[in-house]
Amino acid sequence: MSVSTHIRFILVGTQHPGNIGAAARAMKTMGLSRLVLVAPEKPLDEVAFRRSAGAEDVLGDAPVVQTLAEAVGDCRLVLGCTARSRRVSLEELLPEVAGQRAVAKAGERAEVAFVFGRERTGLTNEELQLCHAAVHIPSNPDFSSLNLAAAVQVLAYEVRMAQLGEAAMPVAEPGFGEAPASHAQVEGMFGQLAETLDQIDFHKGRAPESAMRKLRRLFLRTELSEQEVRLLRGILSDAQRMARLAGGSAN
Ligand code: SAH
Repeated sequence: MSVSTHIRFILVGTQHPGNIGAAARAMKTMGLSRLVLVAPEKPLDEVAFRRSAGAEDVLGDAPVVQTLAEAVGDCRLVLGCTARSRRVSLEELLPEVAGQRAVAKAGERAEVAFVFGRERTGLTNEELQLCHAAVHIPSNPDFSSLNLAAAVQVLAYEVRMAQLGEAAMPVAEPGFGEAPASHAQVEGMFGQLAETLDQIDFHKGRAPESAMRKLRRLFLRTELSEQEVRLLRGILSDAQRMARLAGGSAN
């Protein structure tokens, strides 16, 4: 099951149903579907469904509870989104970091919540006390408050980016799943490469250090696998053998 099933977005005391609809849409575009409403001021209406623009499922499935405590009762990580920076004595995270922590926790099958406050007044101090950390989108300090659904969009995007980042990780593995070469194996290859360059008279009187520095940079930029190191060393061995033969025939 996808980690997003363990991540919920909670809207507390929302005043405009239209914002709830827009938040549902923002979530669905990023592959999130668990919306929870804490004591909305008004019930969902036609505007809410219109603004959800096709995310009626997310909107219609959203449970309504009376307190934030109820909404986060089973959560192991609760992140409170605040328009004002450093308002509370909570650790304050950037959205990107919050997304990464949420995905990491959800990957352990722990329940995670992002909490969003009221349009006019945000979250109360008591509500923030229920959070493990605050999240602040680093907006213009003189005009810091995003529309509720826009804030939801930013956090939903960061959750998606964190998920895509995790999914992309195996592709970045050396040699597509092969064991990465150890430091010593790569250094062994560099040693043989230096020898080979000498033996094939590559330097022709130039200082060997410059070429080796560039070649080291080239190979260290990619994470070589054990098999790739073996292949390269095989090529070098053949070059060394040919150099010996050529040297022999010259004598
Ligand atoms: N006037 C309110 C702003 C509320 S905006 C206040 O000053 O607190 C509605 C909700 O959107 C906020 O409670 C918060 O959850 C979210 N939000 C808006 N701007 C944000 C920002 N820059 N960073 C993080 N969350 C933000």
